[in-house]
Order: sequence, then structure tokens, then C-alpha cells
Amino acid sequence: MKRQFLFFMFTGLMMFLMQGVACAAENSPKAESRSLKSSVKADYLLITCIDFRLRDEVCAYMSGRGLGDQYDELVIPGVALGVDKYESWKKAFFSQLDIIKKLHGIKTVMLLEHRDCGMYSYVFGKDVVGTGAHEADVHLKEMQKFKQEILKRHPDLKVELLLMAVDGKVETL
Ligand SMILES: [Zn+2]
Repeated sequence: MKRQFLFFMFTGLMMFLMQGVACAAENSPKAESRSLKSSVKADYLLITCIDFRLRDEVCAYMSGRGLGDQYDELVIPGVALGVDKYESWKKAFFSQLDIIKKLHGIKTVMLLEHRDCGMYSYVFGKDVVGTGAHEADVHLKEMQKFKQEILKRHPDLKVELLLMAVDGKVETL
């Protein structure tokens, strides 16, 4: 009986630890008490690249800013570059932004791009990635263009320009 009790305690602890490393702790008490009401608000909309290598780092960055699972998220290859390069992506993004703003009342759009981005390499050539300051400048130029497009349509929004290194460190541009 005692052994069985210890087994359940151990299993419960392992389950807790496993859930603790997930990006959005879906089984957290906060998530359990949350309901899907239309009045739910999120101040931030995060836009990140598709890159699978940085999922944990993106989650850790958002948690580190105290946002945890309190933000909306869109994933676009190359973020600003993708929207600038493909008209259909831009159209889709802005119609989604309109809806997201109406649904959740977001106030800040975070553009989180990353170094060593395949999309930047695809469009500008391999020489752009891994070049330190030049790489950051290329990202900055694209993100500034995207920011202006957002502000033209939504002057009430704030836009953050962020660049993540491959080790997960984020600099504000
Ligand atoms: Zn990328």
C-alpha cells in the first residue's frame, strides 16, 4: 500500500515536471480557470519566423518578459521579409491583424526575427547571414518597412523590432 502511494507520488511529480517545460503550460491552474469568452484580451501580438530550431528560445524569451501564454502569435517565414516579398502574404497578414485587433484588443506588435534565417538567405543570398552588424542592418531595414506598413493602417499600435541570435539572446533594433 505504502509502495503504491510512493509510486503515485513519483508519477505525479514526473508529470508536473514534464508539463513545466512546455511552452504554454496548458494544464496550469490559470489555464484551467480560463474560459473562451470573446471578451478575452491580449496586449501583444508576436510575429515570429517558422524556424523550428528556436521554438524553445522564443517561448523562453516571452516568459522572460512576463508574458507567458498571454499573447497572440502569428508565424510567417522571414517575418517582415516574407510580408514584403509576397503580396498575398501581406494581404493575409493585414486581414488577420484586423481580426486579431478586434478580437483581443492588442496594443503592441512584436516583430521577432532571428539571425541565420533561411528566408533571408533564400532572398538575399548566403552571404547575408552570419555577418554580424551587416546581418542586423538587413533585418532592421526590412522590419522598419514592415513597421511603417503596420502604422499606416493602425497608427494606434506600437511596434517592437527584435532580433534573436541563434543562442536565443534578443536585441532590440
Ligand atoms: Zn527564419
